[in-house]
Amino acid sequence: MPGLINAHAHSPMTLLRGAGDGLPLMEWLTQVMWPREGQMNPEDALWGMRLGAAEMLLAGVTASCEMYLFEESLVQASLEAGIRLAITPGIISALHGETYNASKSRLSAIADFHSQYHNPESLITVGFGPHSAYDLSLDLCSEVAAAARDLDTLLHIHVCETRHEGANLEAAHDGRSTVELLASHGILDGKVLAAHSVWLSDSDMETFAQHNVGVAHCPVSNMKLGSGIASVVEMRRKGIDVGLATDGPASNDNLDLWEEIKLASLLARVSALDASSMSPKDALVMATNGGANALGNTDIGVLKPGAHADFIHIDLDDPTFVPVTNDDELIAHLAWAGSGRHVRDVWVGGRQVVADRQLTTVDVAETQFEAQQRGKRLAEQSGT
Ligand SMILES: [Zn+2]
Repeated sequence: MPGLINAHAHSPMTLLRGAGDGLPLMEWLTQVMWPREGQMNPEDALWGMRLGAAEMLLAGVTASCEMYLFEESLVQASLEAGIRLAITPGIISALHGETYNASKSRLSAIADFHSQYHNPESLITVGFGPHSAYDLSLDLCSEVAAAARDLDTLLHIHVCETRHEGANLEAAHDGRSTVELLASHGILDGKVLAAHSVWLSDSDMETFAQHNVGVAHCPVSNMKLGSGIASVVEMRRKGIDVGLATDGPASNDNLDLWEEIKLASLLARVSALDASSMSPKDALVMATNGGANALGNTDIGVLKPGAHADFIHIDLDDPTFVPVTNDDELIAHLAWAGSGRHVRDVWVGGRQVVADRQLTTVDVAETQFEAQQRGKRLAEQSGT
């Protein structure tokens, strides 16, 4: 089958896996995540991404859309590991300022990085990753969106992850919703990927559909941080491209997208009190083709002549896949019982990177050792 696509991740946060458990989003970010990330250097990010890439490839995830700093490290680790990377270098107020003037140098650095690495025929594509409209000003987000449109590339932004994150922004703009504000500032006019999108009204979803905004649905992260349940079935009914995503490994805590396949379906069903609301096939499509469309890359997530040769071999000789009395049951077994441990072989761009459950590209033991040392150092240096 096609390789799985992780539509929204911060994979170097493998070094922060499990930290700050039980805190609500804002406290989790400000009291634990940001202090530890503040101690990170490019080499830490390199090892964190190596670990994340290893974990994803072994689980059959062949492409990942990453919002992170240290973009050079992410490219290096991904090329070495052989995973496809849509990198959207992060822009956050704490480092790059809240205004256009303050962040100008970051924007031109990302444009340079794009001219150096962006190549849809290679493993690497480059977009822009402004964190969110509540962190940056609308005017700055609007400038970033214009820069992304100029390069015809992806704008990747967090939208309405938690219920109250946009309260100040919305209060300062006559109570208009975050999505309305993004639209009226031209931020949704290009190729846009909105992560989370948990707290959207019906008219917000209409706005997304009109602007062809893709959504990265992160059910495990949204449950772990107690953020809410995204209206995925309704979004898809309105024609929005929805992909599945793990989010950062610190809010998940793994990068095995098979869990999202199962939990996206379960959440949709239990929230609608309707077992027919999401089929196993719908969930598998979101994890492959849906993610590709949400990222604006239709050469992945599908097996067809001319597409990138990103595909995986699932070992069906396993107790959880027996019996099969018709094709629908096989699809159901994959969605309900499939997991990373069933993935036997993986190819990305035609290159075999996992053979009989062993990575051919990354020294996993060395990577785990480095990640352990570095994760511990980040905890100690930040005092968290
Ligand atoms: Zn995120």
